[in-house]
Amino acid sequence: MSTRPFPDLSTKAVRAGRSPDPSTGAILTPITQSTTYVQQAVGVHHGHTYSRASNPTVSALETCLGALEDAPPSVCFSSGLAAETALFLALLRAGDHIVVSDVVYGGTVRVLRELFADLGVQSTFVDAGDPANIRRAIRATTRLIFLESPGNPTLKLTDIAAVAAIAREADIPLAVDNTFLTPVLQRPLDLGATISLYSTTKYIEGHNATIGGAITTRDASLLERLRFVRKSVGSIQSPFEAWLTLQGLKTLPLRIRRHSDSALEIAEWLASHPAVTRVLYPGLRSHPQHDLAQRQHAENRHSGIVSFEVRGGVESGIAVMNSVKLCSLAENLGAAETLITHPASMTHSDVPREQRESIGLTDGLIRLSVGLESPADIIADLDQALALLTRAAPAAVATRSATSAKTLAHS
Ligand SMILES: *Cc1c(COP(=O)(O)O)cnc(C)c1O
Repeated sequence: MSTRPFPDLSTKAVRAGRSPDPSTGAILTPITQSTTYVQQAVGVHHGHTYSRASNPTVSALETCLGALEDAPPSVCFSSGLAAETALFLALLRAGDHIVVSDVVYGGTVRVLRELFADLGVQSTFVDAGDPANIRRAIRATTRLIFLESPGNPTLKLTDIAAVAAIAREADIPLAVDNTFLTPVLQRPLDLGATISLYSTTKYIEGHNATIGGAITTRDASLLERLRFVRKSVGSIQSPFEAWLTLQGLKTLPLRIRRHSDSALEIAEWLASHPAVTRVLYPGLRSHPQHDLAQRQHAENRHSGIVSFEVRGGVESGIAVMNSVKLCSLAENLGAAETLITHPASMTHSDVPREQRESIGLTDGLIRLSVGLESPADIIADLDQALALLTRAAPAAVATRSATSAKTLAHS
């Protein structure tokens, strides 16, 4: 059981990639808000030429993110989806095939099904809960395996080491979207994956202040290829986003522990509540992959996302989301504020209904991103919202569900 933290992680989160500014001594890496860099002579410069190719503030963030996984500097992008797009452009051509775990971020499904499919890249979404399904889905044209574990929003896990062995045997790179756990709780490269991918928008920056993405790998030629794609399509992160993310990273190990501990407490409370029919959280013994979670995640911690369903199905779920006061009804996750989300109409509305149903993403599923507020206050808020459910006059619920039916129709 992995109960111990990865060594030096807290130190790296605060220090890696940063050094006092040589001209002023400023302890914080400055925001280099400049398009261009004056060259000493033709072909002679300090390493940066134009900020679409590289930028010193972004480079500092890349060094830190790479260090967190004992890898060379990462490559940072304008968003998590820009990182995914660059990865797909770097590795896939018309006629190629990608195997993807079926429970993934909605935008991952959208970019593959609605953009890359038209460019001749085929994707197969498989139940990666059983790694043998991955092996079966591999074709002669498969050029990438892409997993998300825990998967958004049902928190299904994939045994990364088992899939890495299959990928190695087939000589296909394995990418893991590690947005939910971050290098604090899971290190895909150490489990045998080729690529760790992040939406830094979430826990990495952690304050609902930036949109960003990153890719970490120990494969030098892939890093070079990713930088080339990023320069060619123009999807580098902005210096200000990188600067904010450098600050957010310092407290990542502290935050992720607090998010996780509060999430477990809330998941246990939800599981004992009579109005709640199903709670999905890898830290609960009732989670079908609890043993894998204990083995694969560090510190016996499992991130801050809890999904659940309430008695009464969709209408009751929507009534709860409309009745919370402290929790904010919003997309996004992994930040200081507790956010409550309706995946079917919000984050996963572009995932075809059959795929949503096949993975257990029901219209009544509620996703909670547990923030840094007092867990007692979050529980009190959920408690008053769930209490309204049992007390609400049928008419009130009906009015709310009229709006919600419209929302669902839109998706
Ligand atoms: C949010 C998210 C993404 C996309 O990241 P953006 O920064 O919003 O583009 C990808 N994967 C996961 C797991 C996410 O939660």
